Amino acid sequence: MPELPDILLYLHALHPRIVGRRVTGARLATPFLLRSVDPPLSAVEGKTIVGLRRLGKRIVLEAEGPGPSAAEGGLFLVFHLMIAGRFRWRPPGTAIPGKVGLFALDFEHGTLILTEAGTKRQASLHVVQGRDALARYDPGGIDVMNADLPAFVEALRRDNHTLKRALTDPHVFSGIGNAYSDEILHAARLSPFKQTSTMTDEDARRLYDAVQVTLMQWTAKLQGEAGDEFPENVTAFREGMAVHGRYRQPCPDCGAPVQRVVYAANEANYCANCQTGGRLLADRSLSRLLREDWPRTLDELEQRRK
Ligand SMILES: [Zn+2]
Repeated sequence: MPELPDILLYLHALHPRIVGRRVTGARLATPFLLRSVDPPLSAVEGKTIVGLRRLGKRIVLEAEGPGPSAAEGGLFLVFHLMIAGRFRWRPPGTAIPGKVGLFALDFEHGTLILTEAGTKRQASLHVVQGRDALARYDPGGIDVMNADLPAFVEALRRDNHTLKRALTDPHVFSGIGNAYSDEILHAARLSPFKQTSTMTDEDARRLYDAVQVTLMQWTAKLQGEAGDEFPENVTAFREGMAVHGRYRQPCPDCGAPVQRVVYAANEANYCANCQTGGRLLADRSLSRLLREDWPRTLDELEQRRK
């Protein structure tokens, strides 16, 4: 699922292409994408895009309002890309690709196309009139890149959760998902399953710094690599990540093999050496399989592999 650096990358690429431009048409290939009824999608046709913003993991296009009053805001197209939704920028009038194509927004100089790989239809679009209506789509997590340390710590300690859960909860923090939470926890040298209630002030400070550095570095890296091109390869698995998606590959900091914990539908990756004092975290599916055999330390695991 696109996370903060990916969403900022899209906003960075979309801004010069569509802000200030008039929408000439809106084409829906899959009726299921559109989850709102009123106002209709056609309301955006003929209107100029006046702004872009992020709302949690959603990308919001703002078109000019119906009347002269700017106070209540305009018409908003609220996109949630979910796991496999991606934007494409194509020449004007490009046909929506079969199978993966969901939607196209036409401009005189180009077409913004939304695709979704796979068979699951999860990406969504809501058309919303006015700022009050838009606010209902804000999950309410704090904007981590603009939060100071006290605000960050307050949000972190509001409830007792594992760090992995707290970081990825959209009601607590905005825009962090499975990939960047793995990277942040590795940079902070903290276990994904550490409980927020057991964090020292020093742990919290280190986590805060890791959030800032990780998200800023990745945002700058992705935008630098894309340059003026429209991003075509937005993925949760980035070359250069330390642990995410790198199970059994060497940790870039210590060389120990990256570990994984599979839980629910997700997988967390971490380095036992750097983050858990060498302890392996119990993997629910694997530990059930292995029962008492589950190795407790990296040394034990390596001995067994030999
Ligand atoms: Zn390591």
